Amino acid sequence: MLEVKDLEVAYGKIKAVKGISFTVEEGEVVTLIGTNGAGKTTTLRTISGLLRPTKGSITFQGRDLTTVAPHEIVPLGIAHSPEGRRIFPRLTVEENLNLGAFSRKDKGIAADLEAAYELFPILRERRSQPAGTFSGGEQQMLAMGRAMMSRPKLLMLDEPSMGLSPLMMKRIMTTVSTLQQQGTTILLVEQNAQAALKRASKGYVLEVGKIVLSGSGKELLESEDVRKAYLGED
Ligand code: ATP
Repeated sequence: MLEVKDLEVAYGKIKAVKGISFTVEEGEVVTLIGTNGAGKTTTLRTISGLLRPTKGSITFQGRDLTTVAPHEIVPLGIAHSPEGRRIFPRLTVEENLNLGAFSRKDKGIAADLEAAYELFPILRERRSQPAGTFSGGEQQMLAMGRAMMSRPKLLMLDEPSMGLSPLMMKRIMTTVSTLQQQGTTILLVEQNAQAALKRASKGYVLEVGKIVLSGSGKELLESEDVRKAYLGED
């Protein structure tokens, strides 16, 4: 579904992503893990068209994305739930959700709003409240619900568990599995390596802009290097 090949991305003279390659097959949960500044967010922003690569290619369902504008990438079937959630605090929950469907003209929007409320019932209860009153976990649900409103084939989640309580983190991660079962392919960026690898069919470890390790979620969870560096074991 998605092929990233020899991707390089720079901020001026600073190379943030230094030639990475990875693939996401339809139906998979694939995770990119790594510490702060490894280049994970930069990679997702480049796939979304918000940044342009200095080298390499990004192919989604056979189509090159590197010259496609961000607002044209969403209708192709890629949704991005960004780092920090970026909800609109003064808009209501429902207005935030509807913004996720901005590029659609079909008649299925009401049904998808219903599906978002099924996924996260708290959003229905608070549909008329300004989203800025939400807790971090609730805002994360809203950001995921909003991303799903574009009816994506590929959902990219940037650190959904950041700053959440263990219970809320579990709830969010369970939803990742639910969305996969419902047929959405997921590219998951996480610092919480354990939670991500447990659910991923494939994982890639990024360090200062390079992929240093890759394998199945299970292989990486069992890898001594990963356990030492990311799971806090001696
Ligand atoms: P984090 O979890 O902290 O977001 P990350 O793996 O997502 O980490 P990026 O945010 O992609 O990493 O950052 C990769 C590198 O690019 C870092 O060295 C960072 O300082 C640098 N960087 C990110 N955004 C910018 C920017 N707007 N201008 C200059 N450098 C940037």
